[in-house]
Amino acid sequence: MAIFEHEVVVVGAGGAGLMAARYASEGADVAVLSKLHPLRSHTGAAQGGICAALGNEEEDHWIWHAFDTVKGSDYLGDQDAIVIMCQDAPRTIIELEHDGVPFSRTPDGKIAQRPFGGHTRNFGEAPVRRACYAADRTGHVILHTLYEQCLKRKVRFYNEFQVLDLLINPDGEVAGVVAYEIRTGEIHTFRARAVVLATGGYGRVYKTTSNAHANTGDGFAIALRAGIPLEDMEFVQFHPTGMYRLGILITEGARGEGGVLRNRLGERFMERYAPTVKDLAPRDVISRCIYQEIREGRGIDGKDYVYLDLTHLSLKQIETKLPEIATFSKIYLGIDPSREPIPVAPTCHYAMGGIPTDPDGRVYRAVRLLEGRDGNYQDEQGRWVTPRFELEYVPGLYAAGEVACVSVHGANRLGTNSLLDLVVFGRRVGKAIVQQLEREGRRLPALPDDPERRARQTLEAILSRSEGESVAQVRADLQQMMMDNVSVFRTAETLQQARQAIAEIRNRAERVRIDDHGRQFNTDLMEAWELLSLVDVAESIIHSAEARTESRGAHSREDYPKRDDARWLKHTLFYRYPDGSVELRYRPVTILPAEQYPFFQPKERKY
Ligand SMILES: Cc1cc2nc3c(=O)[nH]c(=O)nc-3n(C[C@H](O)[C@H](O)[C@H](O)COP(=O)(O)OP(=O)(O)OC[C@H]3O[C@@H](n4cnc5c(N)ncnc54)[C@H](O)[C@@H]3O)c2cc1C
Repeated sequence: MAIFEHEVVVVGAGGAGLMAARYASEGADVAVLSKLHPLRSHTGAAQGGICAALGNEEEDHWIWHAFDTVKGSDYLGDQDAIVIMCQDAPRTIIELEHDGVPFSRTPDGKIAQRPFGGHTRNFGEAPVRRACYAADRTGHVILHTLYEQCLKRKVRFYNEFQVLDLLINPDGEVAGVVAYEIRTGEIHTFRARAVVLATGGYGRVYKTTSNAHANTGDGFAIALRAGIPLEDMEFVQFHPTGMYRLGILITEGARGEGGVLRNRLGERFMERYAPTVKDLAPRDVISRCIYQEIREGRGIDGKDYVYLDLTHLSLKQIETKLPEIATFSKIYLGIDPSREPIPVAPTCHYAMGGIPTDPDGRVYRAVRLLEGRDGNYQDEQGRWVTPRFELEYVPGLYAAGEVACVSVHGANRLGTNSLLDLVVFGRRVGKAIVQQLEREGRRLPALPDDPERRARQTLEAILSRSEGESVAQVRADLQQMMMDNVSVFRTAETLQQARQAIAEIRNRAERVRIDDHGRQFNTDLMEAWELLSLVDVAESIIHSAEARTESRGAHSREDYPKRDDARWLKHTLFYRYPDGSVELRYRPVTILPAEQYPFFQPKERKY
């Protein structure tokens, strides 16, 4: 056991963590801790693209991008943060290009762009080509480039260090983290002035997911256990085109290149639901439409999937623009997409909710309302008002990437906006940390007493049991339960069942048995610990979803099919206390003034 000291500790080496590390390293000593080798982070699996209104292929403007993001979020995204992201996007892409990201090119050598779901020209008129891409390996090339940039800047990497706890001292300041060294089985304390949580998503809470095995929501659970709320957890994105039964993603870029969805009758059914943008409607909309087709008996062979048809694309287009998904289809399904349609169904893909932050990635633990309301309301002229509130921050704590909720994605994220979120807000976090150190000094805060106690007790408890169920069994039951009760459609009944089931699953998860009792590379032990994180995340999703009696974005309540702005134009904050009790609080959405941003006022969402 050892105590390591760094000014800044970044937890997670995906796009968000590396971007934060890179910028923090300009004025601080930075360590990155990652349970995986950095290049195995899920960012490397991102396929389709990263968007910015560069206008390389046709006219485009950041304000159109911001409008699409506000509307895509079903008006739950914070509009100040959305404006920051969309305005900063073109600069960010050029910077990535200069760092060495090998983007695909137009014939005259500019960064190529393709259409993606929900991205439109002129406030919803028609799809626009806004997604920059490197074939269908966009995340892979970005991750490699950022890793090189961090190595060049002497960022210190601790690979295969799994963080188990966040340390907050009695003064309420962040003091560091506790990590388990997978190679040796030792527990270490890392002291730091600033900590960034950039641990990615929690897709593994569900049975069918596009996410990697490592996406177990650790950062969400670590924050929750440190007394920090989770924001908007009811909003879970199901991507419409996962390979049937496997959940492996077929990028939306396939539809951007001209692919279409078809039902049993061969009909291009999205034309009926979204006449303007058709197969390029946002993900929440298309996932619901697929289930609607299936319910009405138009799934393929009457089963629970539809077809993604690329057979009309040219072979050259598939080979140069979608090589990875062509290979995946052949390997996993034995299907050549240039000849046969691909069977697809929705797959759990992305966490809109997460650790609440401001646009500089600073984490807050509470909201103080300066006016009596926790949600937005309309004035006499019908304009939406944002009641004033103040944030109570956790000094020294930052979050970025999928684990964070800034919130730019609101109730539904648009494709290619996540990679953008990582680089824009990852960079802002890095810069904010340097400013914090310059302003407040570099003294390392005092550690709480016996910092490793909780981590040690949790692991010892798991190792000491010789009887109990296997991790795999309890995890499979959890994933199936979430799939059955808390996926694309929800009702009071399914959510109540889920609430009862999760209490029982928690009991079982706290009593699992593992076979490996050794110290080195004890991945069984880490999986048992991750199961506890999955349970915490699932519980936050269930409670937040049960309370929200409306349908908005990815949260679709069959018993409350309409969006209800009068009651629910507000963000959820889920708290869990050490005695196991939970609490929901709310805060208003930041809506910009109607005079300046008339297009951003909430209205019915049609495509
Ligand atoms: C298949 C797929 C395709 C996608 N395609 C696109 C796309 O084309 N465009 C787009 O915009 N978005 C896309 N997304 C979404 C996007 O890729 C992710 O939201 C984003 O990459 C998440 O990045 P991140 O940096 O937050 O986390 P990740 O890249 O997931 O990295 C998380 C890091 O945290 C570390 N970590 C986790 N837990 C711990 C712990 N306890 N201790 C220490 N380290 C830990 C991991 O080792 C890892 O380094 C896609 C997602 C998937 C799954």
